[in-house]
Amino acid sequence: NPVLQVKNLKKIYKVDTVETPALQGVSLEVHQGEFIALAGPSGSGKSTLLHLMGGLDKPTSGEVWLGGKRIDGLSRAQLSDLRLWNVGFVFQAYNLIPVLTALENAAFVLELRGEPREVRESKALGALETLGMKDFAHRRPNQLSGGQQQRVAVARALAARPKIILADEPTANLDSKTGLALIEHMRTLNREHGVTFVFSTHDPRLLERVDRIVRLEDGQIAA
Ligand code: ADP
Ligand code: ADP
Repeated sequence: NPVLQVKNLKKIYKVDTVETPALQGVSLEVHQGEFIALAGPSGSGKSTLLHLMGGLDKPTSGEVWLGGKRIDGLSRAQLSDLRLWNVGFVFQAYNLIPVLTALENAAFVLELRGEPREVRESKALGALETLGMKDFAHRRPNQLSGGQQQRVAVARALAARPKIILADEPTANLDSKTGLALIEHMRTLNREHGVTFVFSTHDPRLLERVDRIVRLEDGQIAA
């Protein structure tokens, strides 16, 4: 059974009277342990698809299934609970909380889950160490570079140890060495811990390591 599935998914954004069709009937099955790239030109619908797959936004029509459960009709509260336990996100707007340190940001989801302090700190520190950010654990986002903030955002997703990680251009803001380290780490989590990954990317180093490339064009799967 797929861990994540979308069926005939359509999304039309409406801004004032202007309608933008972002997805025009996308169907996709993601199986446990897959490592999938979404490719395609800017504006082809990759971010929109990732948002809908994670329940961050609702489709205009079509279905989204996560872990055998249909989620497109759930309430906001049900969706946020679902995300807390089931999905990790690495999105471009880092969404780090400015008043919290890197460590507190990385541990935030674990705190929401009610995990004890020692457990959250050890998981969050471990994840920061993986991303080469342990020495920056006590800095706040405005004391870090863009690339370092990106690494904290990735660490936050890893610390929560979700079964599925959805990522929008995870290596886009990283220097070449850090980007490569992140790719290797994602692959290891995938191979050794069975974590399923779906991410958008233009990074050729990442594209050459995936199981499957789903190419979007004009809101449709082209290949
Ligand atoms: P990609 O991630 O492939 O660059 P997006 O999913 O961001 O593509 O965008 C697909 C289309 O939807 C584009 O035409 C974009 O301008 C439009 N779009 C994306 N987000 C919004 C939004 N919040 N409001 C209005 N239009 C949007
Ligand atoms: P520990 O619990 O002592 O950290 P583990 O063997 O459980 O040791 O994990 C080793 C590392 O692998 C962790 O620090 C974590 O970053 C990562 N990891 C383990 N399981 C998962 C998982 N399901 N999802 C994501 N990352 C994981």
